[in-house]
This record gives sequence, C-alpha cells and structure tokens, in this order.
Amino acid sequence: MKILVPVKRVIDYNVKPRVKADGTGVDLSNVKMSMNPFDEIAVEEALRIKEAGKADEVIVVSVGPAKAQETLRTALAMGADRAVLVETDAEVEPLAVAKILKSLVETETPGLVILGKQAIDDDSNQTGQMLAALLGRPQGTFASKVAVEGDKVVVTREVDGGLETVSLAIPAIVTTDLRLNEPRYASLPNIMKAKKKPLDVKSPADCGVDIAPRLKTLKVVEPAVRSAGIKVADVDALVAKLKEMGVA
Ligand code: AMP
Repeated sequence: MKILVPVKRVIDYNVKPRVKADGTGVDLSNVKMSMNPFDEIAVEEALRIKEAGKADEVIVVSVGPAKAQETLRTALAMGADRAVLVETDAEVEPLAVAKILKSLVETETPGLVILGKQAIDDDSNQTGQMLAALLGRPQGTFASKVAVEGDKVVVTREVDGGLETVSLAIPAIVTTDLRLNEPRYASLPNIMKAKKKPLDVKSPADCGVDIAPRLKTLKVVEPAVRSAGIKVADVDALVAKLKEMGVA
C-alpha cells in the first residue's frame, strides 16, 4: 500500500504574523516558513504505518512555489520515499488543492491519504473533507489514533466532549489532530540522503486543474489589542467591580 501525504509550506508557527499595511493579507517578506505542523504529524504517522510493515511507500506532495521543495526535502529527510511538487506561485485555495490531490490519487492509487486537519495560515480545515467528497471515499478527520487493520483503517477522532472511533474501508482519507503523535527530527545523515531522493515537478495544468480563485479576500486585520487587567483586594471588591462593569 502507498500512503500519500500532502504537506503545505506555511509561515512558521513561532512567527507572529504581520498584516500588510493595505490590509490585503499577511506580509510574508523575510518571514521564516516551515512545514505546516499538522502535516509533520501526518508524515510521522505515515512513516510509523510503513515501519509497522503495513505500507511500502510514503509519497509527499506540496502545491506551491519552487521554495516548497525545501518543505518536501524536510519530509524526505524524516523518511518519506519520494516527493511531488505541483508548482505555482499563485495562491491556491483548498478546493483547487483538493482537485490537484484527486488527480494525483488517480495516478498514484494510494490506500491512504493522510493530511493535516488544517493549514495554520488559512485555517480552512477543508482540503481533506473536499478530497474525500471528490473521490467518494470515507474520511476520518481530527485523528488522535490511527490503526491499519487488514483492509480497514480504524480512526479515533477528537470530537466535542470526547473521542469517537470509526472504521473506514481502505482506500480512505485521514486528517491528523495535534495529539496523534510527536513528529521525529531528521538526523543529519538522513538530511544528506534526502537530497538524492526523487522529487518530481508538475504544474496544476498537468493535473488538469484550473486554480483560478473562487474567493476574494476583502480585508485582513490584526487582532484587537487586549486591554490590561486590574488587581482587586478581595472577593467583595471583585464582585463590586464586576457589577460596576455590568458583568455580574
Ligand atoms: P486547509 O484545508 O487549507 O486548512 O488544509 C488542510 C490540509 O490540506 C493541510 O494540513 C495539508 O495536509 C493539505 N494542504 C492544504 N493546502 C496544501 C498545499 N498547498 N499543498 C499541500 N497540501 C496542502
């Protein structure tokens, strides 16, 4: 069985995003970019399934600019076998990414596609679900545990107020939640080895997908600055203050 893992190059999670002065988006000039954290978890899970002898190949794919090759090399250094870059400098919305992934699924025929539950730049939480719908395949989203058992994959899902376990017939789509695993670091020898692993470059047109945007961003604003708190002497003073503020 092959496992396909889509990985997105996003603004590093430690960087505080700055909104462009004209409010059209986030300023990405001279900003550190990294693999989307949920996608690192997806790569790790795919590698663990392969190491358990339940898959033979892990293929990573990214849709994005030439620089996304770095993100793919990181996944190859973690242990993925080969990579595909669908190269474009345009901003690609989740529906277009899902259509590109559908085309790759049709050529690669993976048993599992493991995506992150969301990309931390657009916070869409849509691509995995759209891919499952386009392919007509079962999906297990927000996975905190994944077990391949014969021709089924058993996914424990983090849902409001608890956990839900579902059994999906393979081929299936899984999206990862934060608690699924702790991704490994790539060792130096593996970083060197990754440079020689195959990385194919395609275009969205090769996949037969029109990536023209369907959405228009009207405005992006910084979060409101929080006002400072105050200290009160005791519970009576707290209650009095809350009453004064009209919240008690
Ligand atoms: P989103 O629906 O944008 O929140 O993204 C959910 C997941 O879809 C991500 O965690 C990735 O696994 C995958 N994905 C989204 N955009 C891309 C992209 N441009 N390239 C590769 N994978 C992507």
